[in-house]
Amino acid sequence: MNDLQFQLDMVRALNQQLNNKEKMYQLVCSTSQNAFLYIDFKKNKLDVLGNWKGFFDFQAEALGDMVKLLDLAEDRDKSELRQVLFPEKSGEENKVMECYFPSLKKWLEFEATVQYEGGAPAEKVLRIRDITKFKKQNEELRYMAYYDVLTGLYNRNYFVRILSEWIREAQDSGEIVAVMCVDIDNFKKINDGLGLVAGDELIQAFGLFLKEFMDERTIIAHVTDDTYYIAVRNPVGSHSIEKLFGKIVQRVNEPFYVMGKHEVSISVCAGVAEFPEAAGNSLELINCSEIVMFRAKEHGPNSMKYFEPPIFQDFIDNINIENKLKEAVNMNRFLLYYQPQYDSKSQKLRGVEALIRWQDDSGKMISPGVFIPIAEKNGMIVPIGTWVLEEGIRKYAAWRENYNCDMVLSLNISAIQYKRPDFVSNLLEILEKYRVNPKDIELEITESVLIDDFEQVVSKLRILKEYGIKISLDDFGTGYSSLSYLKGLPIDTLKIDKSFIDTVIQDESTQVITESIVSMVKKLGFETVAEGVETEEQYEYLKKIECDNIQGFLLGKPMPAEEIAGLLKQRSAGV
Ligand code: C2E
Ligand code: MG
Ligand code: MG
Repeated sequence: MNDLQFQLDMVRALNQQLNNKEKMYQLVCSTSQNAFLYIDFKKNKLDVLGNWKGFFDFQAEALGDMVKLLDLAEDRDKSELRQVLFPEKSGEENKVMECYFPSLKKWLEFEATVQYEGGAPAEKVLRIRDITKFKKQNEELRYMAYYDVLTGLYNRNYFVRILSEWIREAQDSGEIVAVMCVDIDNFKKINDGLGLVAGDELIQAFGLFLKEFMDERTIIAHVTDDTYYIAVRNPVGSHSIEKLFGKIVQRVNEPFYVMGKHEVSISVCAGVAEFPEAAGNSLELINCSEIVMFRAKEHGPNSMKYFEPPIFQDFIDNINIENKLKEAVNMNRFLLYYQPQYDSKSQKLRGVEALIRWQDDSGKMISPGVFIPIAEKNGMIVPIGTWVLEEGIRKYAAWRENYNCDMVLSLNISAIQYKRPDFVSNLLEILEKYRVNPKDIELEITESVLIDDFEQVVSKLRILKEYGIKISLDDFGTGYSSLSYLKGLPIDTLKIDKSFIDTVIQDESTQVITESIVSMVKKLGFETVAEGVETEEQYEYLKKIECDNIQGFLLGKPMPAEEIAGLLKQRSAGV
């Protein structure tokens, strides 16, 4: 009896232990979010554990129910899933796969593990895991890796990847691959005027329009704010670049609407470079298309330009100069030359114009015509311009003190420099430092200063004039100005451009224009200076028509400061 009692207690205790374990397994399975199928082949029995109900709305009770799973899977995955659900059919121990279930809108991962006894399957566990969230995140990452989020077009990396593949194939097939860089003109103005949100909407709208051209021969990327790249393989017939650009121009001739109601009109420019003519790889091809795009901009709105090799050479030259310029600023490699200006009647020295020179490492003088436009583009003009002001005024102060000369110092000011808010205060500070009277200084500006913001520029000119500083309009006749707009300008001097002087003797119409400039300017009370006077004949003619002052190689080339000092010495000695 005792024995039996003891055995009964033992069985109860074991049962209790088993129950506890079973409960623990149940708990683990039900909280794991996974579903499990347990199949006992010996007993021909199937059990469901865990979160089965969270996935499927049918109960799996018999072995045959596993086929129902197969029916729910996406068609293209069915045959692979069959192998994962039944690995024992091929004698395998473990199999895993991911599979989409359209009716559940879920991605599920299946993992089957089979145990064999004596070569026959004994047990199988199938674990089912919901990986939908993970898949979506992956898809988003994939999207971000390949596409531009704002427009849905390709991003630069993906574009380059496909373009490189196309170029590789074209090397064998002999096909042409064209890259077009399309850029919205004056986008910054739109962005500044309407705000960033409207700017983004415009980029998006234009991007969506371009997307319509995407097909098996055309890929399109959105790269930066207002720049898009289009690559076309075999760009002939319906895929010709001219046709494509024609359609783009046709579209931009119609307005875009942003923020619901604002009508925005845009224009675009495009540069085109083709493999193999322009470049042999994708990055160079893209670069070339971008360079010619900037060239196209010089031809006005809605222009397109094809790459030609000299353009690239120009660009390389520019880069070299740009780097050297930076070095020159740091190493102080600039010099000022001065060119005298004389009163046409009395031949008295009216003043000198400071003209910058750059002496490169080999001692060669580089003309400002070459580097000033580059310095203006990359902002170097600001430190260079400040140096010119200080150096010129410092030299002028020394001449005044040593030779008691009564002349004007003319300084060339670039538009970028002039528009800086601290320009006037810096100039006044330098004048103060060297104790130079502002009335002895003349600033030469060109019409480009006036183009962007006429009102603001004019009010700044007025401030300068209040301090007594003179203003001279340089290169008159080469820009956009007409005589009539001179009336409103607070200037003192007008410099007639060398191009008039060059032809004034031979060409009657130039004579008519030059004479009307001189007489009109006299009426307005400004002084005139003729630039680039090279011959006696030109000088005599200009004196006759009462042009006030003469500057040119005939009377003196631009020269180093010491030569000007020599000249002043002679004059003060009355030679
Ligand atoms: P610009 O202000 O119109 O200067 C007159 C240019 O004509 C100078 O060229 C001068 O050397 C040249 N020139 C004067 N007389 C004659 C002549 O009889 N025959 C010929 N063939 N040329 C003559 P440069 O020194 O090469 O300067 C070119 C331009 O570079 C200047 O034109 C000016 O716009 C700019 N520049 C020069 N120095 C500076 C500077 O310090 N700052 C800025 N922003 N620009 C400067
Ligand atoms: Mg000048
Ligand atoms: Mg000039």
